[in-house]
Amino acid sequence: MSTVNVDVKLGVNKFFVDEGNPHIELVENPDLAEFAKLEKACPAGLYKRDEAGNIHFDCAGCLECGTCRILCGKTILKKWEYPQGTMGVEYRFG
Ligand code: SF4
Repeated sequence: MSTVNVDVKLGVNKFFVDEGNPHIELVENPDLAEFAKLEKACPAGLYKRDEAGNIHFDCAGCLECGTCRILCGKTILKKWEYPQGTMGVEYRFG
């Protein structure tokens, strides 16, 4: 039986990060209950909380799926848009 390792699968993709122009920005003080939803729901695992309870987000590695936008909208997000042309995720098969 073969197993699927999501990290390995995601590692095949290429990401072109638009430094200085993030396509997703969070509000100043995100609702922590809403943030907790995204810790579980973001398929790329970009919404994180450290052991001290501090929240972290970096849009590099975003799969542009829109899950965070649909689930939490303005309770979390100040800005959500697709990256500029030629930037963002480039999906690979393998
Ligand atoms: S668009 Fe998808 S992959 Fe990107 S941060 Fe939101 S939930 Fe994560």
